[in-house]
Amino acid sequence: MNCPKCKLACPSDTARCECGHIFKSNPPGYNNPHYKEPVVHASPPQEVIVKGVDISFWNMIVFMVKWSLAAVPAMIILAVIYFIITALISGGLGAVFSLTQK
Ligand SMILES: [Zn+2]
Repeated sequence: MNCPKCKLACPSDTARCECGHIFKSNPPGYNNPHYKEPVVHASPPQEVIVKGVDISFWNMIVFMVKWSLAAVPAMIILAVIYFIITALISGGLGAVFSLTQK
């Protein structure tokens, strides 16, 4: 392997030329059996202990009552939207029929 910097013939397993050029294919410690890869100390996974969802019976009932109470205005809004859409469609169709049946 020839150094691209100084064209010196270097052994293929060398990591660094005499001129200081570092061969990228041979990282530092490549031919050193005592070289150790830098150990990345990963933080140990934090244990998340999920306790049982503590909802009492009465809290559940209050929640369901609130849910059903909230469903009432939601249904009213949906009914109004449905009424408007059907009124528009039937009104448009009625206008078309009134034109064709003259
Ligand atoms: Zn060199």
